[in-house]
Amino acid sequence: MACGSRKETSITQNNEKNIDQAVKYATTITAKDLGMHLFVYASDEFKGRETGEPGQKIAVKYIKDFYVNHKIASPMGGDDYFQEIPSAFLTKNSRGKKLKDSENVLAFIEGSEKPDEIVVISAHLDHLGIRGEKIYNGADDDGSGTVAVLEIAEAFKKATKEGHGPKRSILFLHVTGEEKGLLGSKYYSEHPIFPLKNTVVDLNIDMIGRIDARHKENPNFVYLIGADKLSSELHTLSENINKKYMNIDLDYKYNDENDPNRFYYRSDHYNFAKHQIPIIFYFNGTHVDYHKDSDTPDKINYNLLENRTRLVFYTAWEIANRENRLVVDKTEKR
Ligand SMILES: [Zn+2]
Repeated sequence: MACGSRKETSITQNNEKNIDQAVKYATTITAKDLGMHLFVYASDEFKGRETGEPGQKIAVKYIKDFYVNHKIASPMGGDDYFQEIPSAFLTKNSRGKKLKDSENVLAFIEGSEKPDEIVVISAHLDHLGIRGEKIYNGADDDGSGTVAVLEIAEAFKKATKEGHGPKRSILFLHVTGEEKGLLGSKYYSEHPIFPLKNTVVDLNIDMIGRIDARHKENPNFVYLIGADKLSSELHTLSENINKKYMNIDLDYKYNDENDPNRFYYRSDHYNFAKHQIPIIFYFNGTHVDYHKDSDTPDKINYNLLENRTRLVFYTAWEIANRENRLVVDKTEKR
């Protein structure tokens, strides 16, 4: 009896080992689910999600409800998923423009072996609001990143429930005030829920649902920015993971120090990078609908959004589960 059952166990373990668990959970991230969320999140009902305004409150409720429904916890505990940011902080940092109270939304999966080491996956939840008669839906900017983070969280939660949860902890960070000057991420970096010294990486997603003019002919691409700036290891890992699982054309055009767009400094990851935390910024470049009321969910390429979301998931999976913490071997310079 004992002998027989031991044998069965070892066969089961072998089978388990042969299945790449990362693939199993990545494939739960689908174009269909991403689209289902984005057609709601970037609808007129959300009024362009301007920081502190009624549409942004609808947005944070949508994100919170998602985590509650999927039983993904808040790092603050209980029912409180919001990191409140007072009007005074936002206004002080917005070049004088008066802004109302706003909030980041945070959700958390605790690591099974190194729970104190935190992998952050971020996207900004806000957009430009309503100007005149026009509602700025911000489907690509950054509805695409927002729904990507939700789907990645759901995949990690499913893995956790089935006994394959990440070894390091994962913080799903939806920041407000990006369009007002990276304010939500600035607030988080100055009032972190987990010590920044224990924060291993920030994978930041801002616009991953579209194709820019440069890639019309070969649309299976994404721009990567910042991967090699603080950790050579992160860049290599990211390249290898892409080769192993996705084979997306990784374009480093905007990673060039001399690129006049300076995108490295222009989204929320920079508030981590300036504290010596390695980052990768995932981005599809600008396009004709960028910061216009025509950035709508019908124009998103959902298959590309799926591919890019899966790439971020695989990269996060590797960073969270690998033996050693990413090594920081370079310093941030401005
Ligand atoms: Zn954006």
